Amino acid sequence: MQTDLLQEARRQAEICNACRYCEGYCSVFPALHQERFFSDANLTQLANLCHNCRGCYYACQYTAPHEFDLNLPKALAEVRQDSWESFAWPAPLARSFQKSGVMIAIATILGFAVLFLAFRALGSAGGEGFYAVLSHSAMVAIFLPAFLFPLASIAVSLRRYWKETGGASVTLEQIAGAFGSAAKMKNLAGGHGDGCNFEDEDRFSQSRRLAHQAVMYGFLLCFASTSAGTILHYVFDMPAPYPFWSLPKLLGVPGGILMVLGTVELARLKLKADRSLGAPSAWGGEMGFILLLFLVALSGLALYALGSTAAMPALLAIHLGSVLSFFLLTPYTKMAHGFYRLAALVRDEQRKAAG
Ligand code: SF4
Ligand code: SF4
Repeated sequence: MQTDLLQEARRQAEICNACRYCEGYCSVFPALHQERFFSDANLTQLANLCHNCRGCYYACQYTAPHEFDLNLPKALAEVRQDSWESFAWPAPLARSFQKSGVMIAIATILGFAVLFLAFRALGSAGGEGFYAVLSHSAMVAIFLPAFLFPLASIAVSLRRYWKETGGASVTLEQIAGAFGSAAKMKNLAGGHGDGCNFEDEDRFSQSRRLAHQAVMYGFLLCFASTSAGTILHYVFDMPAPYPFWSLPKLLGVPGGILMVLGTVELARLKLKADRSLGAPSAWGGEMGFILLLFLVALSGLALYALGSTAAMPALLAIHLGSVLSFFLLTPYTKMAHGFYRLAALVRDEQRKAAG
């Protein structure tokens, strides 16, 4: 990892450790105040606990023009970003996509191209609905490796993170604690429950927390919808297309709507917020990832609405192409933060248990 970023985060963490004003703001400060010296491993863990709410920056009496020049949200964002790039497997892919919206756009266009080519080259074996354009077995042949490879890549990355931060064997209680915190997005509530200062210095707002929840729960509903479709297909011999009053549709449509609303709000907040309090070089990659998620959700809803019209093949290529890019880029874009955040929360449960 980059030593200059770690050095700057260490300097600021030492000042915060002496000051202790922000004690109750988030889970970073209790973890920070437990340390006397900040190793690279400590700083990596603190950085992945921070969710860039910016509350500590706006409360701080040592920001510029003070000579201490505190900007803890930025220092931790840069270490966090660097940790995702360093632990990724293969690392050069993360260095290409984490910071570049253009690269994400190129990968998405390539995803469309792959699907259009697959439609032409592989075609259908005479199925109904979407399977009239691309057979079920061709879809499985494309998407199964595109789903499994990123999972393997993330497993390698998390193992590296765990080793670096000195993680011990995990208990069910620690996993339950971390998932409970992530499910409520407790740390986005700003410590006092009023929300964070991400979009506006003087105003506490729940917008970022709600938008994150909409995207996370929308994504989980869409995932549940796809899983329900897979079970109906293989276990009950009920292939798609499915009517509205079926589990895949009842889970997928609200999931898609939540993802569209959540990503639009996240993009709005990102445009409004001060870029100098995050990792400025990663702004394009983060925005590119939000727009890719938006495209996945919107094209899925459009496909649902217009699936029986002549626009279906083009919409299917756009939707499946964006899903393909999303899956393959998961370990190398902002999507990786969900996995690292969970790992950091489990590690924090271990810190609390150790007292
Ligand atoms: S961010 Fe500023 S106010 Fe908060 S603990 Fe650090 S030095 Fe103190
Ligand atoms: S930006 Fe928010 S989450 Fe990060 S250290 Fe400051 S108060 Fe905690």
